[in-house]
Amino acid sequence: MVVIPKIRGFICTTAHPEGCSKHVADQISYVKSRGPIANGPKKVLVIGSSTGYGLSSRIAAAFGSQAATVGVFFERAGEADNTATAGWYNSAAFEREAKAAGLYARSFNGDAFSDAMKAEVIEAIKADLGQVDCVIYSLASPRRVHPKTGEIFKSALKPIGGTYSNKNLNTGTGAVTEITIETANEDEIAQTVAVMGGEDWEMWMDALQSAGVLAPGVQTFAYSYIGPTLTWPIYKNGTIGRAKEDLERAQRALDKKLAPLGGKAWVSVNKALVTQASSAIPVVPLYISLLYKIMKEAGSHEDCIEQMDRLFRERLSNPQPDEAGRIRLDDWEMAEAVQGLIAKRWDEVQTENLSEISDFAGYQTGFLKLFGFGLEGVDYEAETNPVVPVPSIP
Ligand code: NAD
Repeated sequence: MVVIPKIRGFICTTAHPEGCSKHVADQISYVKSRGPIANGPKKVLVIGSSTGYGLSSRIAAAFGSQAATVGVFFERAGEADNTATAGWYNSAAFEREAKAAGLYARSFNGDAFSDAMKAEVIEAIKADLGQVDCVIYSLASPRRVHPKTGEIFKSALKPIGGTYSNKNLNTGTGAVTEITIETANEDEIAQTVAVMGGEDWEMWMDALQSAGVLAPGVQTFAYSYIGPTLTWPIYKNGTIGRAKEDLERAQRALDKKLAPLGGKAWVSVNKALVTQASSAIPVVPLYISLLYKIMKEAGSHEDCIEQMDRLFRERLSNPQPDEAGRIRLDDWEMAEAVQGLIAKRWDEVQTENLSEISDFAGYQTGFLKLFGFGLEGVDYEAETNPVVPVPSIP
């Protein structure tokens, strides 16, 4: 079939196999161009490894520090008349490239929140690697089935303690409008914490530790976001921010549990970037469009792969934690010069000047890239087979 993008709201329902391969190949080339990562991890488990920050973490570990990687994700395989999800094609491409480079790579497709998935992954680590020395936790999900109670939790992206109104970008039309979001109730807060908070990260680490598959000195990382005050009502001080606070609670608990192994848990605060997860958050796409323009002009723009390369290459050996013990990869985003300009342009931005004062075009290009569209050298008019195997998945 000839695959074209089909965008519905903030999701693209098709993905291009060759385009996704090219996206992965470009990320691999970037990491290789930076040379080997000294003293990086050698056996890495990435939970949420198929797109966004998790995929780039897997690529940086494998191609920067020659790590064996185990990846866990929840994606859909392709069928004769239906494309796979982008994360499926990304994982297929990653495994092919890893194999060609002589690197171990094994992937698991299914619900990472379940006990069954944890048990399956632990068996694989025992059989193939013995232990892992690094665990990346990079899930972003709208729902979670609790493994012990069977309860289904749904996350909400809402402010807390009052209705919130601000500018918002319709990423389909490029219209800058006003959005008003009602305050979350206690149940919505609790459900968001249950989905995106730290409980499942702890469950993974507990299961891995009691199975004896964590190597001495193991490090584990979960990703967070803080951002500027203008997004605080919807992010840092909203339901998702509560979940991220819970992630930090889990980090402190894990630090204690990992101490006997000489291990360490980290929350890494990453930069705001276009991913499948962030495109669903109100207000944030407009902020990202303004941010990209300023950071690209300043020469400090990074995408997921540059961020994760920096994490493995620089912060693992020199974490430079902030006052709350977090790694800050959002340092360039939060620079005063950048945020000063954002604040000014936030007041000015409207539909008419959007393309002039923001990088909305870059936002759209970045969004399409997530699904394998708009990559250089890919023939988008050619017939392509949507059925592509992930080699390690039967
Ligand atoms: P993403 O949507 O690109 O990736 C999510 C990953 O989770 C995918 O691999 C997906 O398959 C996997 N996943 C979702 N539900 C699953 C399930 N039930 N079982 C197994 N796998 C499942 O998201 P992202 O933006 O890379 O986010 C990853 C983390 O980084 C999140 O914690 C997010 O809050 C954080 N973060 C994102 C940004 C940003 O701007 N995108 C900034 C800072 C921090």
